[in-house]
Amino acid sequence: MTGTREHQLGAFARTSTSLLWADDPALANLLTAEYQRQQNDLCLVASSSIAHPSVFAAQSSVTDNLTTEGYPGRRYHGGCLYADEIERMAVERCRSLFGATYANVQPYSGSMANNTVLFSLLSPGDTVLSLDLASGGHLSHGARVAASGKYFDVVSYGVGPDGLIDYDAVRGLAERTRPKLLISGASSYPRTIDFARFREIADSVGALLLADISHISGLVAAGLHPSPIDSAHITTTSTYKQLGGPRGGLIMLGRDRERPVGPRGTPLHRALDQAVFPFFQGTPSLGSIAAKARALDLARTPAFKAWMGRVVTTAGTFAEQLADSGHAIVTGGSDNHIVMVDLSPTGLTGAAVQDALELCGVIVNKNMIPGDKRPAGLTSGLRLGTNVTALRGMEGEAISECAALVSDVVATLRETDEQVLDARTQKRITGQVADLCARFPIPYYP
Ligand SMILES: *Cc1c(COP(=O)(O)O)cnc(C)c1O
Repeated sequence: MTGTREHQLGAFARTSTSLLWADDPALANLLTAEYQRQQNDLCLVASSSIAHPSVFAAQSSVTDNLTTEGYPGRRYHGGCLYADEIERMAVERCRSLFGATYANVQPYSGSMANNTVLFSLLSPGDTVLSLDLASGGHLSHGARVAASGKYFDVVSYGVGPDGLIDYDAVRGLAERTRPKLLISGASSYPRTIDFARFREIADSVGALLLADISHISGLVAAGLHPSPIDSAHITTTSTYKQLGGPRGGLIMLGRDRERPVGPRGTPLHRALDQAVFPFFQGTPSLGSIAAKARALDLARTPAFKAWMGRVVTTAGTFAEQLADSGHAIVTGGSDNHIVMVDLSPTGLTGAAVQDALELCGVIVNKNMIPGDKRPAGLTSGLRLGTNVTALRGMEGEAISECAALVSDVVATLRETDEQVLDARTQKRITGQVADLCARFPIPYYP
């Protein structure tokens, strides 16, 4: 029986691939090129990760053929027998992995999870206190160019001269501005976040606390970063980043599950269920939910914990090596997977360094640094991350090689006025990258 079922899914996967090649070779070629690019490039993008192939097998089965508006046991359409079991499985795995009392696995993305929380629990014009973009905040935390920035009165906290969150300053701002919602969590903050301290601040001014762990959800799952589940009122995360899942989002609750919110005193968990559907979304992507279930199961394994351990250790090594070669590192190091390089002493922009590195097959992203004078399209910083290199097994000597490649490109750019790499250097570094990627292939990716 199992053999037959396995055969059926396998045959389906092969048929879909053959049909794609036969009917749409242009698209199939692009998809293959992207597959190969991921194998051959050295990805140091801190938000990126690599999902286990079984995550994609779960995602791309036939589940998205279904209309599944509603929740397990409460759907608006028939045919949801297995859909309900799949979603319940994802919810259960999420609760168990993070020690949550409630999980909503339907959000289409991390940004949608945040918007759902903000737009359902606040009224237009309410005050939100969140980390500013240059200090590591995220667009969906009320940036001026985002919907949340348009509908709420957003006040930002930053970091101190040492690059660290100054909790006393956050408290002072909270007392002066009396936010309805305080947001903790970041996209380019290389240090541990004290969620319990944020909760004290939120409680002292009667605000709700949202913890957004999109970047560090793998570390939290592995017990390598303090969990916000019971500290924050609400926790959100994106699933395709460190969690190694599909593109999607999660909303979780801990001890505040039953807390009454809104004019009718609705329990928080019920308010959030209604906020995801029907307030914000329609039919969820069951394929994504199945893939989340798969990723959440993998995140319980010793192999995942070992991966996350390597992520943290190698980020520390990376920061040290760069500092040793004279680079300014924001906060002087890293507690998580992120290393923030301050390029301002070199005069180079993050954009120029990102482009030069990409020509050699090293993928990074330009990123604003605290107090950055340059716009987001140029920036004075680079954000590096070790999720992918750690998965490929790079540590020790291999990480030193990665750091040397980055250093080398920055040093070469500094010597040229045009801020472009000379052909000889480019060729040399491209060769080193190819060698490194061949020695550390992506596991399970044929
Ligand atoms: C990436 C990120 C998000 C957005 O997640 P998407 O799934 O890309 O929408 C939200 N918050 C933080 C802190 C992030 O880093």
